[in-house]
Amino acid sequence: MEITVEYIGKNPKEKEHSTIFTLSNGYFSIKGDLELEQSEFGTIVAGVYDYTPYFYREIINAPRVSGLYIHLDGIPFYPSARNCKVKRTLDLINAELRNMVLHDLLEYKSTVIVHGKEKNLGLIKFEFIPKFSGEIILVNPIETNTTNPSYTEYIRVKHYQTIKVWENDLGIYSEVQTLDGKYRLEFGTGLYSPYDNVEREVVRGKDNISEISRIRVEKGYKYEFIKYIIVSDGNAERLMEKYRGESIDKLVDSHRKYWKNLWDTARVEIEGDEDLELAINFNIFHLLQVAPYSSKVSIPARGLHGFGYRGHVFWDTEIYVLPFFIATFPEIAKRALLYRYNLLPEARLNAMKNGFKGAQYPWESADDGKEATPGEIPLDMIGERKIRIYTGEEEHHITADIAYSVDLYYKFTSDDDFMKNYGLEIIVETARFWASRVEKEGDTYVINRVIGADEYHEHVNNNFFTNLMARRNLLLAVKYCRDEKFREKVRELGVSDEEIWQWEEIARRIKIPKKVGNVYEEFDGYFELEDYILEDIFEVGEGRLPLRIRENLQKTKLVKQADVIAAMFLLRDEFTREEMESNFDYYIKRTTHASSLSMPPYAIVASWIGREDIAYQYLLKCANVDLENIYKNTSEGLHIATAGGVWQVIFWGLCGVKIDDNSIKIENPVLPGKIRKIKLKLKYRGKKYLVEVSKERSKLIPLE
Ligand code: BGC
Repeated sequence: MEITVEYIGKNPKEKEHSTIFTLSNGYFSIKGDLELEQSEFGTIVAGVYDYTPYFYREIINAPRVSGLYIHLDGIPFYPSARNCKVKRTLDLINAELRNMVLHDLLEYKSTVIVHGKEKNLGLIKFEFIPKFSGEIILVNPIETNTTNPSYTEYIRVKHYQTIKVWENDLGIYSEVQTLDGKYRLEFGTGLYSPYDNVEREVVRGKDNISEISRIRVEKGYKYEFIKYIIVSDGNAERLMEKYRGESIDKLVDSHRKYWKNLWDTARVEIEGDEDLELAINFNIFHLLQVAPYSSKVSIPARGLHGFGYRGHVFWDTEIYVLPFFIATFPEIAKRALLYRYNLLPEARLNAMKNGFKGAQYPWESADDGKEATPGEIPLDMIGERKIRIYTGEEEHHITADIAYSVDLYYKFTSDDDFMKNYGLEIIVETARFWASRVEKEGDTYVINRVIGADEYHEHVNNNFFTNLMARRNLLLAVKYCRDEKFREKVRELGVSDEEIWQWEEIARRIKIPKKVGNVYEEFDGYFELEDYILEDIFEVGEGRLPLRIRENLQKTKLVKQADVIAAMFLLRDEFTREEMESNFDYYIKRTTHASSLSMPPYAIVASWIGREDIAYQYLLKCANVDLENIYKNTSEGLHIATAGGVWQVIFWGLCGVKIDDNSIKIENPVLPGKIRKIKLKLKYRGKKYLVEVSKERSKLIPLE
């Protein structure tokens, strides 16, 4: 399974390929730029954020330690400037990026890995064959000039200062600190080669350092080198010694074994549609790459693949990405849920600050769990024109989404320990938030002034998605608090019978927006808005809309992304098939899919209600969102929610996996398009199963 691109000279799609070829091990990532070229991208280290105006905290563009510059007889050799033939291949199975550069004067090949298991290690094995005899200089720097884009690309922010640079026989090192003083990182790099005619010299300034290797080369000979990369929060020198002491073959081998092990569980096999199979596994590859390495970090909306959304964590993680991990590597999902648990104290303060009880999670979260959504974003350099952003103040469903994810994790794992020590507290505290967030209006409880999953409509009352997810959150609290197993913890959390009864009461009376025929109103007053029907349900975005509509979206029935349909996907057991059909048919004609989070829920519900062709078309689109740069912003990072969504379309949608409190089964699978058979694996309560769906039969087969 490989993704290959070829070009001559400058890559016309450099920015998107840089994201597609990003390598990561969940601790650090390097963008997929060719090491021989200059790049604005340095290293992204999971969880390392710094203060920034407007966006509060952003993941930093740390020094670049993956660059490697070649000079031929004193003249720089940049493939883009020399019209080289370049071929780049991302090998998904081995998680390595192979590069080949051909030129009249030099043939260059490299293999890049960010080691899966050894979280501080990256390796570039490279070789070159000169077509001349002369001198080659290899410049191996730690580049400490990397910056983040601010609210416009043109304003750049540097988030760290260099504390020191130093060298030893094995490499060069740099220690940097974020400007707020919260994080220190150490980087190291060093070249290894078996030749004794390599003259090594280290050139250093106050902040920067490069290792220069000169070698006299003979025409037609092959020269092989290894570039070691160390990214750490300390001890770079010791780590360099450690890895230099190990055999390179063994290191590469252990990386491959690590990935083989991941693929043994995570791979999705699609018979009959090879392109789709590749695209799906491409998405799974990137999901695996961003698996949190510790419970201090979670998964940003654009992965560790770019600076889109500043590295913030949204509901994307719990609703779109975690189901994949919950069903394949629950221990990884657990880390992401513990990230939320660890930030409960902040969520409590957030609720208090907003006048509520319990815990209210921020819409956008960084490293400290405070609300990181910008309140406004300037549109010009002097800050005269600004857009006001209300999601941080109003998009409250995130709090219920997290509780939903805790429950899903428990359904798959029955991990009592987790539930007792962490999960239950999240569910109780979030239920307390909703109990204080609702307002009594006659006989019902309403939730006013929110933004739902559909972000076109702000300050709305009783949004379908929000109210239903809040109700589920309250009912989860009721369910778990009444479970004998958790009695002691429930007492410890100070939950009284009366409180449980109150949650139940609110859940029973929470306002569900009105229904006309079978169609639910997305929020109070939605049905009175101006109607607009989209001609092509397979197009995405707002570009196709007349200007008048585009500028007045809030006043129309157009929906940015699945809202009623997202609720139907997540809360499937609450709806009849007829309801799903009517709402699907109604809302699909009014949804622009301007967010890449939109199509997966539609595709899933489509497969449940027999709209197989739509399910298939959406699946194809979702699977190619980044490979084909469908949203034109792949350069800002991978659409990690869509990647998780792709897996969910296969899992819940096509394979028809259904889970409840005590069982898992396959129900009414569908095989649209050219697909003849699907095979994937899942873990359920400590056991591994094979899901096999073909036209003849569908099975859930225990494997161990
Ligand atoms: C979507 C949100 C999503 C965010 C981050 C927005 O465009 O509307 O649902 O959480 O992007 O991916």
